Amino acid sequence: VISLSGRELAASIRSAAGAAAGRLSTPPRLTIVTATDDEASAWYVRSLSTAAGKTGIECSLVSVEPPASAPEIMEVLAESSADGIILQTPLPDGARLAELAGAIDPAKDVDGANPLSLGRLAVGLPAFAPATAAAVIEILDHHRVSIGGARVVVVGRSAVVGKPVTHLLLNRDATVTVCHSRTPDLASVTRTADILVVAAGRAGLIGAGHIAPGAVVVDVGTNPTPDGGLVGDVAADAGAVAGAVTPVPGGVGPVTTAVLLRHVVEAAGGAV
Ligand code: NAP
Repeated sequence: VISLSGRELAASIRSAAGAAAGRLSTPPRLTIVTATDDEASAWYVRSLSTAAGKTGIECSLVSVEPPASAPEIMEVLAESSADGIILQTPLPDGARLAELAGAIDPAKDVDGANPLSLGRLAVGLPAFAPATAAAVIEILDHHRVSIGGARVVVVGRSAVVGKPVTHLLLNRDATVTVCHSRTPDLASVTRTADILVVAAGRAGLIGAGHIAPGAVVVDVGTNPTPDGGLVGDVAADAGAVAGAVTPVPGGVGPVTTAVLLRHVVEAAGGAV
């Protein structure tokens, strides 16, 4: 089975974004807003701000002190003067990302969290897609997997991954089927896919029996293991049937971060 790495692609996207950032008269600015003290999220924010720094992006962190109310968070998002704004999850209990992110100006919505951005994607207008969804397309293009006319099955229907990637794929002329936790006999659907995109957040959900011989499998899932590692949603035995699989870690993850940085440079007016 071929491993569709994202590392080289991520490096080339970061370097193009860094070069475009360098051509701007002032460095692009990214604000990351957090509203809980979640450890995994704090780790991600640190790694993102380091990557931003290396790309010539000025990154500032704003933490709205827990317990943060929805209006407080929305005020911070609406008033930021940065070029790009990210609202980091998890959010306080009861708060919904799609609702709060409505306060982010779509021109600054570099992780496509404002429902307006998803709506614009759905009708084919320019908008920032959530970086993970965009990364799925980038990785397929990079490895020359043809999307137009392909039968694609997406497992997962979240606003962050499943739904936006579905629209991006439709915009590229794929025939797309979307599955979720209430889909009966998941394997009978996923086996129809030329390209299978898995974003369920369930380690090992997709095994050899879910995959058509030779299919390309994009594993978006990131599930922490007890020993501090990371595994995807696709089980190891998938390799016996699939033609190609993206690794976890080292597949969609690094490309997601790179795409996010490129979006910040674009939001600042950079030509990447
Ligand atoms: P989410 O909001 O929890 O959505 C998961 C989706 O998967 C839901 O639509 C759910 O169905 C579906 N699902 C769950 N169990 C299923 C099952 N047994 N069979 C079929 N469908 C099932 O998660 P998310 O935010 O979309 O993220 C998905 C995964 O991607 C997670 O592992 C996350 O960590 C990872 N992720 C990775 C990156 C990256 O950069 N690599 C970025 C973002 C997310 P229902 O709608 O019916 O509940």
